[in-house]
Amino acid sequence: MPGFELFSDLERNEVNDVLQSGVLMRYGFDGMRNGHWKAKELEAALENTLQSKHVQLVSSGTAAVSVALAAAGVGAGDEVIMPTFTFVASFEAIMMLGAIPILVDIDDTLGLNPEAVEQAITPKTKAIMVVQMCGSMANMEALQAISNKHNLLLVEDACQAIGGTFKGKPLGSIGDLGCFSFDFVKTITCGEGGAVITNNKDYYLNADHYSDHGHDHVGNDRGAESHPFLGYNFRISELHAAVGLAQVKRLPEFLKIQKGNYSILREALSVIPEVTFRTVPEGGEESYAFLSFFLPNLDMARQASEAFKTNGVDGCFHYFDNNWHYIRKWDHLKNLKTLYPISTEVKNGLAYLQTKTFEKSDDYIARNISCLIKLSWTEDEVKARASKMVEAIKQIVKG
Ligand SMILES: *Cc1c(COP(=O)(O)O)cnc(C)c1O
Repeated sequence: MPGFELFSDLERNEVNDVLQSGVLMRYGFDGMRNGHWKAKELEAALENTLQSKHVQLVSSGTAAVSVALAAAGVGAGDEVIMPTFTFVASFEAIMMLGAIPILVDIDDTLGLNPEAVEQAITPKTKAIMVVQMCGSMANMEALQAISNKHNLLLVEDACQAIGGTFKGKPLGSIGDLGCFSFDFVKTITCGEGGAVITNNKDYYLNADHYSDHGHDHVGNDRGAESHPFLGYNFRISELHAAVGLAQVKRLPEFLKIQKGNYSILREALSVIPEVTFRTVPEGGEESYAFLSFFLPNLDMARQASEAFKTNGVDGCFHYFDNNWHYIRKWDHLKNLKTLYPISTEVKNGLAYLQTKTFEKSDDYIARNISCLIKLSWTEDEVKARASKMVEAIKQIVKG
């Protein structure tokens, strides 16, 4: 996955353009910047790549999720439905707005379970946040139907799935708003950065203003700006955008390498009858950033994860035992460890986490292993990795 594996002169030249003009800020300084508008250029490139009318770059993927929700008017006391399996950024971004994350089960897509979503809807529900984990997608057709039926926003966190598609549409472009991260370990990177995408002009203008102190960006050189509403600073810098601009041009190349490496590993693992793969909804095409598969039970998955580490097969995650991506170890959320007081409404809204269990999620995550697909592997390295993985798993399932 990580684009940083393939940094080249393309990235260096884009960054040098910015350093030569000396304008590291994306807005203003029109005279000094020598025609360089890297953030604007990257937004235009992403509009094209993601087939979306509007793209607003921001400082991170976490900021993108907060800005997307804020742009659509989600705030204090609103409930946002999200999956138990995601990155911690999902609930951070929701809680930053004073809204309440409602965690629900996943299914064998490793994304939101539509039935669990429907059961969690209350009069306070404002949005469904679907997270396209590990390069693939949830059951988007069912989730779209639910969001339409209940008149809820559908926000898509596609931070880990750039390049994947559903029925020909880029992941991230299916919901009302989509969010991307360009942090250092994502498929394309800016170092730090993120984007909100939408076809809704009002949401876009809200995101544009909100991510820059509420400035409306009217006129040249920031001369005549006013503040239609309060905002914050979630801007991306020109230096970061410059790296992303080089990387986005290389996305097709990256995706091709990912698919090639993924296919070799998948084909090798397919000979083991005990190995099954995550479900990809019909009409969906993964980005191939990860290969995710299931073993028959928790014990075998734990053993495989250990065996991979011992044999130098790096980049494979057994999320059941990891505290970044799965609810089981999010004690800071369950115990509401905040630095500052939070509202009683949010505290009460999160009380369910003390007692609610997530058997379906536990079952899938206990048995799942997801392996990062690297861009820098040689063909020999992928093949050697494949045989080590097959060897290790065969030993384990034999018992
Ligand atoms: C990386 C990631 C984020 C957060 O992005 P940052 O740029 O690191 O803030 C959010 N959601 C998911 C699913 C991610 O993988």
